[in-house]
Amino acid sequence: MKWAVLSDIHGNLEALEATLAALGEVDAYLCLGDIVGYGANPNECCDIVRKLCPEMTLMGNHDAGVLGRLSPHWFNPYARFALEWTRSVLTRENWDFLQSLPHRLEGEGWMAVHGSLVDPWEYITSPWEARPSFERLTVPLAFFGHTHLAEYYLQEEGHLLVTQHPWSAGESILLAAGRKYLVNPGSIGQPRDRDWRASAALFDAEARTITLLRVEYNLAEAQSKIFKAGLPPFLAERLAWGY
Ligand code: ZN
Repeated sequence: MKWAVLSDIHGNLEALEATLAALGEVDAYLCLGDIVGYGANPNECCDIVRKLCPEMTLMGNHDAGVLGRLSPHWFNPYARFALEWTRSVLTRENWDFLQSLPHRLEGEGWMAVHGSLVDPWEYITSPWEARPSFERLTVPLAFFGHTHLAEYYLQEEGHLLVTQHPWSAGESILLAAGRKYLVNPGSIGQPRDRDWRASAALFDAEARTITLLRVEYNLAEAQSKIFKAGLPPFLAERLAWGY
């Protein structure tokens, strides 16, 4: 079974559509949350995800922020502005969809969270931040997002040491027996690793591989929609920097 693993779409329709086209035909989709926030097409992105994987989508902190489940103090002023704007345009259907999203999902031999296994809003950016999640990981593999950085962590069974690994476009992680993995596919709608291209992963459950895709999309169009919507221009500019 082939899974497309999507995360942190953030209302960027151009990036989402280009990513789905690049992923090609898959058996199932998994979305790690943050469908909305920052970008100018929250409804269009929700509509797509709602059709692709209504039961296999997590709640992200921006999704929770739009719903008023997370205090605005959690967000920087740009994000806060985008959340309020998103709330003003979100359809009833998409509001209900976001309300329905869980904090944790499980499949055969894997699980998924938005931030970490300790807390859905916690960031994993280092081996010491990953370790408490490995302690709670009872299956060989967990997907997570939230940081907008494509990378992975691994731990040998019976060992405490956690190692952090960069993950570049086209590179496949070969899931080995006796090891546990925490894998972040990066962000579709707002990558922050200085590479502006949309980031997503393809998980082949039979071959035991996870491959990273980086996808070019119509950046100028996504930016121009942000300007036209009256969202902070910084949110458009940062897309080009990949930060
Ligand atoms: Zn995010």
